[in-house]
Amino acid sequence: MDAACVRTWLEAVAVRIEAERHYLTQLDAAIGDADHGTNMHRGFTAVLDRIARLDEEASPGQLLKSAGRTFVSTVGGAAGPLYGTAFLQAGDALGDGDAFGPRRLLEALRAALAGVQRVGAAAEGDKTMVDALAPGLAAFEKTLRGGHGQGHGQGHSHGSLEAAVRHAHAAAADGMRATIPMLAHKGRASYLGPRSVGHQDPGATSTALMFAALEEAVLAQRSRPQRLRKA
Ligand code: ADP
Ligand code: MG
Repeated sequence: MDAACVRTWLEAVAVRIEAERHYLTQLDAAIGDADHGTNMHRGFTAVLDRIARLDEEASPGQLLKSAGRTFVSTVGGAAGPLYGTAFLQAGDALGDGDAFGPRRLLEALRAALAGVQRVGAAAEGDKTMVDALAPGLAAFEKTLRGGHGQGHGQGHSHGSLEAAVRHAHAAAADGMRATIPMLAHKGRASYLGPRSVGHQDPGATSTALMFAALEEAVLAQRSRPQRLRKA
């Protein structure tokens, strides 16, 4: 994966946020203050604007760090510093290289989760974005280690990367749905106590959407050379 893949990912997240922003806000209306879709939309609009102005030569790590700083400075509330830190830490973990492989991506996901937990102190089961991020990361790692069926038996790094992002997306979406019966222990939803039960967490929902976009970006990366050949 390279900088173009990271740009594709950020753009794919922005498109999904735009499409789902009212849904995210509705989810937040039930157990928060009805601004999660607005917050995420504002953040990703600023991120796209920022990376469009960045040097074409910007590395994957620089792109993510820049996205993180933009997020922190444009999005308030809980999601701003949490996602901002996640992107910053992930960018840091990618280092300065022009390209990165599945192992580096695993390091980046780990760094993102560690950042979110350092800032927000949420554990799995607290009904937050961690409930989508942690299982997404775990499924990604398990697939890379060969714990999941890998499907087609071709070139191991491509095949396993695709399988890893597919399983990560599925696990993040399962984690998102699993927040419905949970009692919130962190963030605004925790003020509701037992009334937080029965509602899907907005942050877990936006995190699952980011994993969907990751799968999309990895698949788009694979088809890129073919598209060039056709052109
Ligand atoms: P705010 O709660 O400040 O209005 P948002 O509505 O944008 O911010 O984001 C709410 C989401 O943030 C929640 O759905 C939850 O997933 C996430 N969140 C809140 N507090 C924490 C925390 N301490 N750790 C991890 N995630 C959290
Ligand atoms: Mg909110």
